[in-house]
Amino acid sequence: MNSGDRNDRAAWLKGPSIKCSGLPEKLNRPWRLVLLGPPGVGKGTQAELLTRRLGACHLSTGDLFREAQHRSEREQTLAMGAALNFMKRGALVPDAIVWELIRERTSCLHCQGGFVLDGFPRTLAQAKALQVLLENERLSLDAVVTYELPGAEIISRLSGRRTCEKCMAIFHQTAQPPRIEGICDRCGGALFQREDDRPESIAVRLDAYEHSTAPLIQFYRNAGLLTLVVATGSGEEIFQRTMTILESRVKPTGDGSQYEQSAVFAR
Ligand code: ADP
Repeated sequence: MNSGDRNDRAAWLKGPSIKCSGLPEKLNRPWRLVLLGPPGVGKGTQAELLTRRLGACHLSTGDLFREAQHRSEREQTLAMGAALNFMKRGALVPDAIVWELIRERTSCLHCQGGFVLDGFPRTLAQAKALQVLLENERLSLDAVVTYELPGAEIISRLSGRRTCEKCMAIFHQTAQPPRIEGICDRCGGALFQREDDRPESIAVRLDAYEHSTAPLIQFYRNAGLLTLVVATGSGEEIFQRTMTILESRVKPTGDGSQYEQSAVFAR
């Protein structure tokens, strides 16, 4: 395991003027991934497992908004206050607000351990903006992993989900309960049910996914980056499935003539 364990993602969660503590170690070929899939499919859990294994930083837009939610109103910008109102209803935050936050955090895309983007991009406009930003920053994605799951299972996963208010670790009332009810195994923080995991918000989120985010699958398929993963089974099983597929992908050495496996997998 690497120092990704201790990375507090401060620059991402609190703003780019704050320094991260426990930066991931510097990698020669850091992985840069995007995770897609409907809400409740387990992207957050997979992002955590992947970032620990790959040494990358977990860049979750949902965590960014939830972190702001725990700040007092005075500490929130007007744009963030508006964003949180959309989030509570389960609706997508407008592209302009999301984009402002991402643009401010461009330095996170250069993280020396790479990154796993979770929850962004979520609309075609966001995906196109990200493409231009990455080109300008001379960065490229290695893969876009999309998780697939039947609708009934999604609803059961969302309604039983509990999140740590301190470290954002994810549990499930039946599938992955904490050792002590209501308490995070990892940091001792209190577990809460996200407001947008209530039934009325779940329906809005699933609808937003179908209309706004599902079209990204074709966008990334056309770009040759799409990797489909079936998200049934335990978190660990899904993770192993993801790693097997990612390990079969190769990364260019730079001159385009030779290909080799990422150093991360050689450890
Ligand atoms: P989910 O479990 O739905 O994948 P996330 O934690 O990724 O949840 O996001 C929670 C909420 O934050 C979304 O329902 C939405 O309101 C808002 N949000 C997060 N990322 C974006 C984005 N890229 N564009 C618009 N809204 C977003």
